[in-house]
Amino acid sequence: MKVCKFGGSSVADAAQILKVLEIVRSDAQRRVVVVSAPGKRAKGDDKVTDLLIACAREALAGRDPAAAAERVAERYESIRADLGLDEALVAALREELAARLRADRSHPGAFEDAVKALGEEFSARFCAAAFSARGLPAVYVDPKDAGMLLSEEFGSAQLLPESYDRIRAKLAPVPDVVVFPGFYGYTASGRLATFSRGGSDITGAILAAALRADVYENFTDVDAVYPVDPRLCPEATKGEGIREMTFAEMRELSYAGFAVFHDEAVMPAIRAKIPINIRNTNRPDEPGTMVLPRRRSVPGRVNGIASSGGFGALYVEKWLMNREVGFVASLLGILAREKISIECMPAGVDSVTVVFRDEQFPDAVRERVFAEIEAELHPDHMSYTRGIAFLVAVGEGMRTTVGTCLHVVTALSRAGVNLQMINQGSSELSIMFGIREVDLKPAVQALYREFFGA
Ligand code: ASP
Repeated sequence: MKVCKFGGSSVADAAQILKVLEIVRSDAQRRVVVVSAPGKRAKGDDKVTDLLIACAREALAGRDPAAAAERVAERYESIRADLGLDEALVAALREELAARLRADRSHPGAFEDAVKALGEEFSARFCAAAFSARGLPAVYVDPKDAGMLLSEEFGSAQLLPESYDRIRAKLAPVPDVVVFPGFYGYTASGRLATFSRGGSDITGAILAAALRADVYENFTDVDAVYPVDPRLCPEATKGEGIREMTFAEMRELSYAGFAVFHDEAVMPAIRAKIPINIRNTNRPDEPGTMVLPRRRSVPGRVNGIASSGGFGALYVEKWLMNREVGFVASLLGILAREKISIECMPAGVDSVTVVFRDEQFPDAVRERVFAEIEAELHPDHMSYTRGIAFLVAVGEGMRTTVGTCLHVVTALSRAGVNLQMINQGSSELSIMFGIREVDLKPAVQALYREFFGA
């Protein structure tokens, strides 16, 4: 059997939902359908999840959220009318949204999650109704009834492992197509919690793992995963997409800036060894990208180049640092106390640079961290630099080849891009290059032409 997940653009309006119906109907193996909230219908449009977050924030700020709530209801009303569904569905949405906006606000994160999950809930209710009305018997299943148990980390919850058996017991016997809302579940104390943004991918992977699906199909709006981010290099969409990649490659690429698939969604599929097939709702005949436990790697081949801006580098220098046992551990301890999660840590003999996402280091945190480093470690010099970007060349084939790094560096130097850092782990699956954010676009374009251009 197959679990299929449809992203926001695939359920953005009635016409898209009808495409989803045809895709599901065309293959009897497609038994479980996970949906996101309606996304953008065109450039400049709103995602329902963003509208819901705006509602929750109005309420949290003590303002009247009625106008923001009306925009959500209108969005569903237009889908309902175009699909010819029962008016009671939109009435139920209005009622539930109003009730959640009136609920207890003492925990703002839990309050916001309960409101923003309504996008997925009603997307799934609408799809189940539309499928059934058109002759494909389908049922909506609530994550609470299915036993989708999550941690209490509102806005970025994680699955509790006992969920797998419960989900399997609940969903496996259902004879109809199951339509399941992505993005959220419930904590052990019964409160709704969501995954991080884009988390419907995670729901799909969890259901595929729980049901031991033959494949997890992730339908989005691109024909395949492109080897570089097409937002930085539009010409990539005209070239070949990646046909096959391994789980490890996908994890590296999606972690470092590939917007196609949520990086946390790879793990459930890896554990259960379920292939992921990324496909296009608008061109369902395209084979898409297969993500597999293993593939025959091509020596020397870089399979994709991920890229992401928004990093900062904390540089600490101390004469004879190499002889001071525990120096780096203390530095990391200071950062851990501030809950700063670290990307990489290139080091020299007497210096160490710690790189992390800059959003974790507002001025107040920076001042505290600097004061603690000064007091605990007495460095000779320290500084913090914003505006760093990373390029990550990923490919299993690099392991068996000499010279990939040289190849990347040569292409970057020809494009006039200055390299600030290089980092390669012993897995040899990826090499990270730190550059200035302003150089990101020309660097990605240069590498695309070098490795994937015609
Ligand atoms: N609707 C949620 C978001 O916009 C989750 C998802 O689409 O996967 O982040």
